[in-house]
Amino acid sequence: MIDLHTHTSASDGTYSPASLVTLAKEHGIEAIAVTDHDTIEGLAEARETGERLGVEVIPGMELSVEHGPGSMHILGLLINPEDKGLNDTLSKLQESRSSRNPKIIEKLNRLGMPITMEEVEKISGGGQVGRPHIAAALLKNGHVSNIQEAFDKYLKKGATAYFERYRLSREEAADAIHGAGGLLILAHPGTLGVNGSNFDNLLSELKETGFDGIEVFYNNHSQVEEDRLMKIADKLGFIISGGTDFHGENKPSIKLGVGYGNMAIPYEVLQEMKQRI
Ligand code: AMP
Ligand code: FE
Ligand code: FE
Ligand code: ZN
Repeated sequence: MIDLHTHTSASDGTYSPASLVTLAKEHGIEAIAVTDHDTIEGLAEARETGERLGVEVIPGMELSVEHGPGSMHILGLLINPEDKGLNDTLSKLQESRSSRNPKIIEKLNRLGMPITMEEVEKISGGGQVGRPHIAAALLKNGHVSNIQEAFDKYLKKGATAYFERYRLSREEAADAIHGAGGLLILAHPGTLGVNGSNFDNLLSELKETGFDGIEVFYNNHSQVEEDRLMKIADKLGFIISGGTDFHGENKPSIKLGVGYGNMAIPYEVLQEMKQRI
């Protein structure tokens, strides 16, 4: 069994890279891709732990790219973390986060919620700060009664304390990932906000842009959705990927390796990827 989509405390997961890989070992997971949002800071620690425990750690990350009406996330898998171009791109994204977070907090302060950047940084555990950490600070101070309410009222796109941050185009993301020798996988295709024949057309477009594969196995995909994605992948020549999008206690109902309980991705999925590279 493998899991090719997971987050650590380097972004918005709650497990440190070492404890994530330890958990993978405990659950009998043979290979795990660490795919933090916009950062590869967790990879070295994960890799080291993997070598020690005998768990294969696949270097990866997840990028959000410009897209409407829904959201498009891209996984880069089997990337070279040393690649200069990739690191330059990630630095740009980090800078944009650093200027965005204080704006969100300032707006929340003006709305009568006196949370501070220091508090939010503490919650993030020293990794990259994102909206989930701000949401957690709002919850901790009793301004909302759960994380979802924080997003719905203040933090989601279009809400009162939302600010855009710099996003890559699909092409820029593709260049960064391919430049680092990795595979470009469309993550959770269900969030694109596009249906029917428009969905098929968009996927053909992505194939032309150079996407290598799609995430067929995902925590909330039904058998019907899985079959449909499998068919499209086959038709367009995409490789198949799959993962739980594990975030630890930030999304407590999603378990490592098994998602909501029914996932079991075979090692062959990873083998095919390696062959493609
Ligand atoms: P950020 O990295 O600051 O843009 O925050 C993105 C993260 O916030 C995503 O990975 C999700 O975990 C979470 N998120 C984004 N939108 C929502 C939403 N509408 N409801 C709940 N969580 C969300
Ligand atoms: Fe996330
Ligand atoms: Fe995602
Ligand atoms: Zn993710």
